[in-house]
Amino acid sequence: MKNIWRTKEFKQFKERKIKDRCERCGSEEKLGIHHEVPFRDSLEKAKKEVGYYERLEKAMEKAKKEYFNEEAKVTTICKKCHFIEERGLRLCEYCKKKYYNPLFFDSCADCKSKAKEDIEKEMEMIERNEEEFFKRLDLEKQNN
Ligand SMILES: [Zn+2]
Ligand SMILES: [Zn+2]
Repeated sequence: MKNIWRTKEFKQFKERKIKDRCERCGSEEKLGIHHEVPFRDSLEKAKKEVGYYERLEKAMEKAKKEYFNEEAKVTTICKKCHFIEERGLRLCEYCKKKYYNPLFFDSCADCKSKAKEDIEKEMEMIERNEEEFFKRLDLEKQNN
């Protein structure tokens, strides 16, 4: 099977879709595109629609049509961000330099205190709003 990322269709699609900087970290180097829906998903779907595995060529054509659709959700992403995204990591939004695992943390280890401050501020906001909400409720009760 021909590598989909070496086809003319991919090259043209990429040229149309790519932006001038990484949408994750802002880098302008080593840019590529990242499809939200992986090609194998489009191919699996096409295989089911076409019906038989021996008609793989036909399924490939169908999958390509879906994958290279102008409406396809595509992000411009640099090589470094692509690499970390595939490992389930995320760029720290505080320093925009280090990476962290979003399953366990809110920032990289260096920015932990900043992330904690943010969360505390947010909690304070919620509490304050809650207080105001109940105060208003009390006022409304008194007025009725
Ligand atoms: Zn990047
Ligand atoms: Zn950080």
